[in-house]
Amino acid sequence: MPTDSIPFRTKVTLPDGRTLPIGKLLCIGRNYAEHASEMKSDVPDEPMVFLKPASAVVRDGESVVLPPQSEDVHHEVELVAVIGRGGHDIPEAEALDHVAAYAVGLDMTARDLQAAAKERRHPWSVAKGFDTFAPLGPLTPAADVGDPQQLVLELTVNGDTRQKARTDRMIFPVATLIHHCSQIFTLQPGDLLYTGTPSGVGAVAEGERLEATATRCAPLRIQATRRS
Ligand code: MN
Repeated sequence: MPTDSIPFRTKVTLPDGRTLPIGKLLCIGRNYAEHASEMKSDVPDEPMVFLKPASAVVRDGESVVLPPQSEDVHHEVELVAVIGRGGHDIPEAEALDHVAAYAVGLDMTARDLQAAAKERRHPWSVAKGFDTFAPLGPLTPAADVGDPQQLVLELTVNGDTRQKARTDRMIFPVATLIHHCSQIFTLQPGDLLYTGTPSGVGAVAEGERLEATATRCAPLRIQATRRS
């Protein structure tokens, strides 16, 4: 299959009209206690951060391609904060002013490869970083979304609810995550923060239709396919 067959979405248009390259994908692990519990993981005492490449982004109406290297690709529905104003060491009280928009996203995860990596104490880059493994929904201006901790996140697969939770269940709220991450990585406009998944993660099969929603955010519709 030719390398240009994946529809790379390497730019994002913010609500203020700026079209920017997608920068870092900052992703948070174990940010809902019920999900840490279903993964038999401890609840962290500080945010657990990993990165995905921008080449993993696909948009509403596109496909997640299940890779031949994995037999067990899971959905993780997440609220995504889209950074519109950069900064380093951003105070928590000002953190949400750096968010231009919110979207629903999916942190697709090759669970079998992640389990093997955990066992070998290897990084998660492969399990999390395949092409199409970071679906990003349409952007909704932050002002229209309001408090990011007062949303209901939901994922259906072929119409059946698989994940549903209020974002006030996050262990570390969005403002804390931005403050924490900005002490490590200078944030830049076009960076995306995937804020962690609630419980109910599970395997995705070829042909399944995923729909992710969050209160006041535009929905994300994705189809799972497999490379022929
Ligand atoms: Mn996740």
